[in-house]
Amino acid sequence: MSIKKRGLIERLSEGTVLCAEGYIFELERRGYLKAGAFVPEVVLEHPEVVEQLHKEFLRAGSDVLVALTYYAHRQKLKVIGRENDLELLNRQAIRIAKRVAGKHDVLIAGNICNTWVYEPNNAAAAEEVRRQYTEQLAWAKEEGIDFVLAETIEYVGEAIIALEVIKSFGFEAVINFTPIYEQSKDGYDWIEACKILTTNGADVVGFNCARGPETILGLGKKLRSRIEGEVALVPVPYRTTDEKPAFEFLERLDGSSAYTLGLDQHFIDRDEAAQFAVQAKNLGVNFIGLCCGAGPHHIRAMAEALGKNAAASQYSPDMSQHGLLGIKSVASKNEKIILSQRQ
Ligand SMILES: [Zn+2]
Repeated sequence: MSIKKRGLIERLSEGTVLCAEGYIFELERRGYLKAGAFVPEVVLEHPEVVEQLHKEFLRAGSDVLVALTYYAHRQKLKVIGRENDLELLNRQAIRIAKRVAGKHDVLIAGNICNTWVYEPNNAAAAEEVRRQYTEQLAWAKEEGIDFVLAETIEYVGEAIIALEVIKSFGFEAVINFTPIYEQSKDGYDWIEACKILTTNGADVVGFNCARGPETILGLGKKLRSRIEGEVALVPVPYRTTDEKPAFEFLERLDGSSAYTLGLDQHFIDRDEAAQFAVQAKNLGVNFIGLCCGAGPHHIRAMAEALGKNAAASQYSPDMSQHGLLGIKSVASKNEKIILSQRQ
């Protein structure tokens, strides 16, 4: 007997939905795509690697597999001279995610993002944005997805086009803005920006990328108090601060920019990721995730903190078995004293 899969809105009405992201950064670290353009050529060149990462996020407890079509739009494919591969890349990304999803109780998100084409008050640019979203989602519709995640958008105008195109295909829409600065690039307060999208029919609105847990939660709190519907928070796993609220502003130890290649020293650990998940849930945020930089260990810790089942929990830490730290430790008395003094 086949069981009807619950859709995104149904799941959100029943509890939290955990969404693992960060595919681009993780696959760049593994050596399968180039930092700079950050275009997911890996979908075509090494589909087995994308498949493996989907598996890892699924095992870690993600409720959503985001098809790797981020930056797989015409504008970005042009940058790397692969415009001709556009359709195949989009279709293949969804097929890979669906293959991993199989019979698992997990949703497939189609993914669109900022185009780098949009300009306020430029009708030709708006039409080009619409054309790019339309072609991507037409392929997604044919391949079959459960909802669309539109993200890292900084213009309300571009987000509205994304929403209109998503709705024209009849999909549920999550629209996430990226709050690098204090306002959208077309001058809207972020909460106001989200309200406009909700009014226009977005099913979930919120923020992803740029801000770490520390600086995204405040925005989430304001958003939650002003929006009736479902809201999303998907920060990056880095320690941003009031002074440097987005990871674009973080620095290396020598004062040079850490964005994007020197961010490692600012990583949050798995416990901080779990803590964020609980804080977001307690605010009433139901769509919770982690963006650029996230790894399966972060996602598993978040899943466990949210009370979800994760296959990878079979191997969750048990430090009581550790040689130096554990209860049956064989470490010498001296070693234990040194370790305890360091903690
Ligand atoms: Zn991101």
